[in-house]
Amino acid sequence: MADRRGLLIILSSPSGAGKSTLAKRLMEWDPTLSFSVSATTRKPRPGEVDGKDYHFIDEARFRTWVSDGQMLEHAHVFGHSYGSPQPPVQAAIEAGRDVLFDIDWQGAQQIRNSALGAYALSIFILPPSIRELHRRLVTRGQDSEEVIAKRMRKSWDEISHWDGYDYVLINEDLDETEAKLKTIVAAERLKFAQQPRLSDHVRTLQAQFEELP
Ligand code: ADP
Ligand code: 5GP
Repeated sequence: MADRRGLLIILSSPSGAGKSTLAKRLMEWDPTLSFSVSATTRKPRPGEVDGKDYHFIDEARFRTWVSDGQMLEHAHVFGHSYGSPQPPVQAAIEAGRDVLFDIDWQGAQQIRNSALGAYALSIFILPPSIRELHRRLVTRGQDSEEVIAKRMRKSWDEISHWDGYDYVLINEDLDETEAKLKTIVAAERLKFAQQPRLSDHVRTLQAQFEELP
């Protein structure tokens, strides 16, 4: 048995609030974290690598993965299908490794309600203002004006689910948010339920106690 159970660390936010940036920083902080590479039917953006950023698959394959029970969760976002393949997640948490998810509120809700829900840690990232959210989407320089407008229109739908999460952070200063995120992960890892070996240790202490003269 691994020293502790792996956590399913879920980051959600409206597009542009900073979750991918924060996920990357978390991975740099702890390289043992395993990133859940989602499957999607959307086309790769310039620079995105198949198998690293996403598994880029077609709709027919996506449906097969879902019907074969290979998806831990799946949802329709911005007109495309997205889902988290289950086998790598199962393998990682059984080995005591935490898995990081960058998924929307629908996926977060499904994971919380799944058999692995007990190991889920969900964190919602809010922008400091809607104006700043728009500014970040523009300065990211990844999307056309039309796509940015679409993301902005959808952002309230995502934000409106903020209160279903374990933690909510306002990402104003990036370094500060990163520090808070690390604090949350570090504390959650120490929770009693995450440490199956604790009972063995306490039993050993009890045996030692009973041997006291
Ligand atoms: P998401 O993954 O939520 O869509 P990104 O991580 O891609 O968002 O962030 C959107 C843009 O905002 C990126 O250009 C990123 O560098 C920038 N950004 C993220 N957090 C902050 C912050 N706290 N202050 C200023 N810019 C930020
Ligand atoms: P993007 O196309 O910009 O990479 O992602 C769009 C949205 O889909 C983001 O909010 C992202 O978190 C979400 N997303 C990415 N992968 C998954 C997934 O596997 N499941 C769910 N439910 N949402 C996902």
